Amino acid sequence: MGLRLFNTLARQTESFEPLDPDGKQVRLYCCGPTVHDFAHIGNFRTFVLTDLLCRYLRFRDYDVTHVMNITDVEDKIIARVKEAGVPLREYTSKYETAFFEDLAALGCASPQHVPHATDYIPEIIDLISKLVERGIAYRTSDGSVYFSIQKYKDLGHVYGQLTKVDFEQMRPGARVTDDEYEKDAVADFALWKARVAGDGDVFWESPWGEGRPGWHVECSAMSMKLLGPSFDLHLGGEDLVFPHHEDEIAQSEGGCQHQGGDKFVRYWVHGAHLLVEGKKMSKSLGNFFTLRDLLEQGYTGREVRFVLISSHYRETFNFTIDGLKGGKTALRRIDDCVEKLESLAGGGEASADPELLKNFTEALDDDLNVSSGWAVIFDWVREMNRKMNDQSLGAELAAANLAAWRKIEEALGIKGEAGDDTPKEILDLMSERQEVRKQKNFQRADEIRDELLAAGWTIEDTPEGPRAKRA
Ligand code: AMP
Ligand code: ZN
Repeated sequence: MGLRLFNTLARQTESFEPLDPDGKQVRLYCCGPTVHDFAHIGNFRTFVLTDLLCRYLRFRDYDVTHVMNITDVEDKIIARVKEAGVPLREYTSKYETAFFEDLAALGCASPQHVPHATDYIPEIIDLISKLVERGIAYRTSDGSVYFSIQKYKDLGHVYGQLTKVDFEQMRPGARVTDDEYEKDAVADFALWKARVAGDGDVFWESPWGEGRPGWHVECSAMSMKLLGPSFDLHLGGEDLVFPHHEDEIAQSEGGCQHQGGDKFVRYWVHGAHLLVEGKKMSKSLGNFFTLRDLLEQGYTGREVRFVLISSHYRETFNFTIDGLKGGKTALRRIDDCVEKLESLAGGGEASADPELLKNFTEALDDDLNVSSGWAVIFDWVREMNRKMNDQSLGAELAAANLAAWRKIEEALGIKGEAGDDTPKEILDLMSERQEVRKQKNFQRADEIRDELLAAGWTIEDTPEGPRAKRA
């Protein structure tokens, strides 16, 4: 039947059909991080969702081009740069580096393009100029440029494609300068913001004078430059539906005049938010987590990823430390089963068992229904364990099941690297033990073995040397 996705634009689940006439290429854009601070695990729920969709599309044999921008100039960043008193790039690069480290720790594949808004100022100015030429954008006396919703509508466009917007409630001529605004303030929004004293050195020349772009227009310019005026998929968290994505549509369709019923984006996919211990994350409530906080507590990126993709992306998800502990145990169950399959298969090659793949595909095809997907996987683990226990699984079947699992772990991005879930203190003890053994200090080596055992780890000798294994 093929993949089906809930499209915010259609307000229903639809069959996914790429724009590519050969049905092979998929072009996808996800609003990337605003690099004003460390990203929190809520942000990562959205980025892991995007990675999951890319991986699943590849599992379904599509060629995916994934673009994720870096928002490195907008209101919040300007405010922080001013406080810190350092150049813009110096300020943002620290958080950008941290973001990519976290993304890798969470098993996310690198997007094909990672454009920075500040590298696309000419494209942004070009798009705003097109809107000015069509009379959809206007300059104000201070040298800012605003998007006119009324003019846009007068030219036959629809504003409010993702959200129902009640134009009667709009204050005539109302205008917003801030990048973020509430739904009841639907109004002309800033495309170009004239330089003010508080901007410091953050400004560019433009036909309207010195200034900087508004946040919304950045994504329109970068996505269309890299993916073309129409592309398949656009993702982001649910908070971006309005105004950010609504404004992206207006700017892109207003500036590019799509032909023959084409749209800026065919499918809009929005991830629901993540709560922590039942509440919105906040530093004062003490429930605000970055990935780094969790790694410091001894959890791995793989475990956090598992938890982030354990529930359906359109359901608000409650992240708890207990849930993370449960995730650790669940992954261990899978890993133990896979290890046993590996030793039974004995390195033998086989083509993937179709049953597991079929059941998994049926689950994920249904709007990425991971809950059903995990049910399929844990049923399979149970069945494999039963068959291995009563010795009714031969080496060839073990290899075939393993081959199917390899495809699934790749699609989910939870591939286990040998030893990757071994906590750092255990790895440190292991290397100290190697060291003292070299020095023939066997008494200390034995003590370390006992310390490892007390912490729940045994030492296994492998051809590559000793390895820590859970007792
Ligand atoms: P930002 O860096 O603030 O632009 O946010 C990056 C992404 O994280 C956006 O797609 C947001 O919609 C998303 N996001 C923000 N908060 C949460 C949350 N609590 N749960 C899930 N996604 C979120
Ligand atoms: Zn965006």
